[in-house]
Amino acid sequence: MSDAPRYRFAPSPTGFFHVGGARTALYNWALALRTGGTFVLRIEDTDESRNSPEWTQGIIDALAWLGIDSSHPQFEGPYFQSQNAALHVAAAHKLFEQGNAYWCDLTADQIQARSKETGKQGYDGYSRDRGLTGGPGQVLRFRVPAGQTIVQDLVRGQVEFSNDTIEDFVLLRSNGSPMFLLANVVDDIEMKVSNVVRAEEHLPNTPKQQMIWDALGRTPPIWAHVPVLVNEQRKKLSKRRDKVALEQYREEGILPDAMVNYLMTLGWAPAGDTEIVPWQHIVDEFRLEDVNHSPAFFDIKKLNSFNGDYVRAMSLDEFIAGCAPHLENAPWPAERFNSEVFAQLALLVQTRVVTLSEVPAMVDFVFLENPIVDEDAWMKTMGSDFAINVLRDYADVVTSCEWNHDALKAALEAWTDANGLKLGKTQAPIRVAITGRTVGPPLFESIEVLGRDETLRRLQAAITRIG
Ligand code: GLU
Repeated sequence: MSDAPRYRFAPSPTGFFHVGGARTALYNWALALRTGGTFVLRIEDTDESRNSPEWTQGIIDALAWLGIDSSHPQFEGPYFQSQNAALHVAAAHKLFEQGNAYWCDLTADQIQARSKETGKQGYDGYSRDRGLTGGPGQVLRFRVPAGQTIVQDLVRGQVEFSNDTIEDFVLLRSNGSPMFLLANVVDDIEMKVSNVVRAEEHLPNTPKQQMIWDALGRTPPIWAHVPVLVNEQRKKLSKRRDKVALEQYREEGILPDAMVNYLMTLGWAPAGDTEIVPWQHIVDEFRLEDVNHSPAFFDIKKLNSFNGDYVRAMSLDEFIAGCAPHLENAPWPAERFNSEVFAQLALLVQTRVVTLSEVPAMVDFVFLENPIVDEDAWMKTMGSDFAINVLRDYADVVTSCEWNHDALKAALEAWTDANGLKLGKTQAPIRVAITGRTVGPPLFESIEVLGRDETLRRLQAAITRIG
């Protein structure tokens, strides 16, 4: 058997794909790639009440979007935990036969009553020596040995657990179905997993799982528990409170490369002065030993800033192709769209957007018959004393000036100087007249793209509205 490491990613298909899961997957993928190992995808689909095939497909699509390519020779799976139930049960019976597990018929209420009586928290091992042989209403519990369990973790270091803080935990429920702790270990054994890299929330499970590995006569994997992701208030990211679904970022126009690069820096940083580095560099450099174990702040502003850098690094063709899905729900009638005009505008907006979903609002003024007017912007700019004058005089110039952005700019500059104003001020009413907004792509280039007739029509319309 080859000694190449076998990593795995074992998500449960119970909801949108969480950015934390994405980071875990990427850590495993980067490590598998560098070490010549394997990345096993196992869908932990045993919670029938919460699973759905749609979430499973969501996982596969999200991984593909992140570049974790299921056709890559180092990718294996997906396996489905639900298909291994017989193996999980067989392992449980083996543990019983070896004396590492025992049956127990206490109900939750009975356990609680005993706990009140004895003053000890949780289950007290009541059935350890009662010799039950299984049957309806009985659960199978692991017989936690005395002593301590030492978990060697590549991120956390050596973590010691005193076994008397760990109750005899359940392996099989009273309906015979295996618990997560058991199924997860048995699958890792079956899939010859050598390295478990997963979220820190599973660290408390690890001593129990290590006991199962030991009792089944196997060498436990190399563990690594990666730090939790927290929000601005330093609270653990939560589905209810925070934007955690990878799908949502994808829809908003975050680029996969930017997301991948950003996720990898949550708890880790490449050497050197920039964190923005190509994937291959990450693969070469990433080490779990360098992962920080304090919680990592999932900073959306920083993600956006990464994305802006990635957007600017795209070629124009890539940018235009990347924009295409975001133009589908744009507000203009399809027949007014012109891809050549869009290409001219793309050049102007590429440097100004952070996410691709901002693009339609930057260019819609060209493809709409009339621009969408931001009324606040209108009030602020069209009420100024010089607004009507600058619009009128500029319309005169536009009627006959040379048609290029330099000439268009020079004309406004001349007017601005003659009136002792600043270009920033005099541009504002013109921009609102043309685009409906105070922000957007460079003004004179935009006017050039829009064309003389349409520019004049919009200037006149604004004059009429003010007048
Ligand atoms: N199915 C578990 C989860 O999604 C995976 C636990 C593990 O990685 O071992 O949290």
